[in-house]
Formats: sequence, C-alpha cells, structure tokens
Amino acid sequence: QAAAEATLRSPICCVLGHVDTGKTKLLDNIRSTNVQDGEAGGITQQIGATFVPTSALAQRTAVINRQGRLELKVPGLLVIDTPGHESFSNLRLRGSSLCDIAILVVDIQHGLEQQTIESISILKKRKTPFVVAINKIDVCYGWTPRLHSGFRASFKNQKGHAQKHFNELASKIVLQLAEQGFNAALYYENKDLKKTVSLVPTSAKTGEGIPDLLGLIVQLTQRWMATRISFKTNVECTILEVKKVQGLGTTVDVILSQGSLKQGQTIVLCGLDGPIRTTIRELLMPQPLRELRVKSNYVSHKVVSAAQGVKIFAKHLESAVAGTPLYVIDDNTDESRIKEIEEKVINELKASLDRFETQEEGVCAQASTLGALEALLVFFETSKIPVSSVDIGPVHKKQVVKCSTQKDALYSCILAFDVPVDPEAKKLAKQKKITIFTADIIYHLFDRYMEFRKTELE
Ligand code: GDP
Ligand code: MG
Repeated sequence: QAAAEATLRSPICCVLGHVDTGKTKLLDNIRSTNVQDGEAGGITQQIGATFVPTSALAQRTAVINRQGRLELKVPGLLVIDTPGHESFSNLRLRGSSLCDIAILVVDIQHGLEQQTIESISILKKRKTPFVVAINKIDVCYGWTPRLHSGFRASFKNQKGHAQKHFNELASKIVLQLAEQGFNAALYYENKDLKKTVSLVPTSAKTGEGIPDLLGLIVQLTQRWMATRISFKTNVECTILEVKKVQGLGTTVDVILSQGSLKQGQTIVLCGLDGPIRTTIRELLMPQPLRELRVKSNYVSHKVVSAAQGVKIFAKHLESAVAGTPLYVIDDNTDESRIKEIEEKVINELKASLDRFETQEEGVCAQASTLGALEALLVFFETSKIPVSSVDIGPVHKKQVVKCSTQKDALYSCILAFDVPVDPEAKKLAKQKKITIFTADIIYHLFDRYMEFRKTELE
C-alpha cells in the first residue's frame, strides 16, 4: 500500500429519505452479500452504523470495475442508518450533521415526497454533498431482474417498454429536483460532478445498481474530499444518542470521525446543566456480524479508531446533550486548559442555539436535543409558524418567564418536543396564562398547536 493511501479514513455516509423508500432494505442488501459469502472480517454492524470494509466494497463493485478504473483507497465506508419514521426526523438530522456525504433515497414511483424535501433542505443547510438513489427500479413495467448487476448492464438488457417506463419516471424526478433548485443527471451522464446531482438507479430487492451506488460514493469522497477524509490524530467525535443500558447505566452512542478513543481517557462533553468531565470506563461495540439474525452482545475495546460508531460508558452522562461534540483530555493537559475546553463545549451549545433564527413575535420551542430542535424548527418554518425563542432540555420556570413577554395569546405558548415539564414551571405557566404543549412526535405537537390556534382565532 502506498503511504498516501494509508492516510485516508473511512468516509461517513448517511442514508436519508422519505419513509418506505427502501433505506433499510438498501442497507440490508449491502450487508447481506457479504454474509452470504461468509467472509471473515466482513461488514460489521456498529452503534447506529454499518461498517463496510474495502474488501466488501471491492467485491461488490467488481461487476462495474472489470478494468480496475475505480481504485479503492479508503479503508472502508461507515454508513449511518437513519430510521425513516417521522418521529425519528431528529435522528435524520443528527446523522446528517456529521456525515461527509449522503445518499438520498427516492422511490421511483413516488418521486420526491415530504420527507425527501425536508431532507434536501437539511442537506442544503449543512452543505453536505449527496447523491440520489432512485430506488425500486424493479417495479418498472416488465422489468427483468439481473441480480446484483451494475445498472447499465441491466438496463441494456431490458425490453423497450421497461426502458421507456424507467425513462419516464426518472425524468419526472429530474424535473422535481429542478423545482428544488438542483440540476440532476444519471450519474454516468453527469458531466459536472460539482454542480449536478448524480442519480443512481437502484433496486434494494434485486441488488441492481448497488455496485454503482457504492462505487460512486467511494469515487466522490476520494476525489473531492481527500483532505476532509484524511486521517488525523486529533479526536473528532459527536454524540449521537444518550441511552440507558440495563445493568450498566447511562451511555452515550458516538460517531468517532477522527482520531482514536482509549479506555481510561478523560473526556469533556456538554451537559444540560454545564460541562461534564468524566473518564471512559468502557468502549463498547457489537460483536462482529457473523450471522445477520443473531443479536450480538457488546464487546469491550481498549482502543477504537475513526471512523467508527461506538458506545461509551462513563459516570455522569445523564445530562449529556446529543448532537454536541466530545473532547479528549490528554494526561499532560493542565487544569486551566481543561477549564478552557469545558467553557468551549458550553459556548458551542450556546452558539448552536443562537444560530436558530427567531422573531420578535412567536411561540417558544423546546426540544430534547439540538437535532430534535432543528427538526422541529424545519417543521415550523414550512408551516409558517414564527418562533421567538428556542432551548433544549426540560421546560423550567426560566422558559416560562421568557415566554411571558409574548403579548399575543397565539404566541404565549411553549411547544415542548420530547421533553418533560417541571411541575413548578407548570404552575407558573398557569398563572401567566401560558399554554404548554407536549408531544413525542413532531406531528402531534404541531396538530395540537394548530387546533389551539383555530379555536383562538374563532
Ligand atoms: P425505509 O422506510 O426507507 O427504511 O423502507 P424499507 O427498507 O423498510 O422498505 C419499505 C418497503 O419497500 C418494504 O416493503 C420493502 O420490501 C420495499 N422495498 C424496498 N426497496 C425495494 C426495491 O428496490 N424494490 C421493491 N420492489 N421493493 C422494495
Ligand atoms: Mg427503515
């Protein structure tokens, strides 16, 4: 291996799109070929992610790479699974904040749907490059499946009416993307990879087009993101989720995108009530994936290197904020420097909150995590509900006081997504005639508020 090649880390790719477009099935398909071949050291299921090593990438892209034009320089690909259900739109956001590139999955028959458009606006905001997988091509009229084939070889083989049907559906999607402000073209006809979104026709059912999809992701990241994905020793790590594990305690699931984490290291992360300084007790990853259906237990690791999904067990993680970075403290770091880092994590949270656009008049939005808050605000924006202030964590008196400055009854409301309300805050809200709406699903919260609005306006 050439020295230059050894310096790349695995790119992080997230899969997003509307529910039922085939995101999970695409990942299943990518995972299963390898398992069927029983290859050791193959694809591993990670915390919130799937690791596809270069060997699996090589195997899967072989059918479209007979001339060896695609040179695999990355050690693998870390694919972040993002559940598509609407209550998980916060997860979609968390995923997209740390990914290098994204696959936006569209159902060929349905075209762009509500969550597709939401996903696009998130990707736009984050300036995340993406490709579009036009999935379920096997449903085209009279399609003859050619298992695991590259798309072009398969397409050439189709009867005229199947090709015609495909072309019609694909052009419709190109038009819909144009409406969203994007030039798009089938990836092999794309002359300007920087300005035009590549479309990759796929079938998660037959595996057609999946070699093309993997090949394109590797090609794009290696060609355009070599600096971004070069391996650095500085730790870059983002908290994906805060989770209680039975028999263990509170853990954080993180995506390590640069550097290495070690057992016993001191870490600093952002808590709702201030910085958290703690020591890594366990670095946990699931068992290597031998058999897809076996639910594996965690294995403890001494060291974990990027890019990986890993579960960290440590004390004091209860109030950790998902969506914020995690820092590692070296043994020889002095106390004043640690204090600086602690200040930094808190300032980063404040800065993230300040970044949300607010108006003079509007409702108060509160959510469990930064990602959840962002999802909530994207929803409000599309629904034209103005927001005057935002915060994360439980609703306390502080937020009620803030909200009480709103004059209009329509905006004397706190919309709390996936967070508890402190009893004192409830009492105060009643006194001040502030309505607090709570829900675990964005749509429910929205519906409740819209109902209230309707009766208020009558
Ligand atoms: P997700 O919500 O985006 O994760 O979608 P799923 O992966 O759960 O798929 C939704 C449904 O579409 C399931 O019934 C799948 O079997 C089906 N499906 C997914 N991909 C394909 C495909 O390429 N072809 C066909 N015919 N069905 C598919
Ligand atoms: Mg799914």
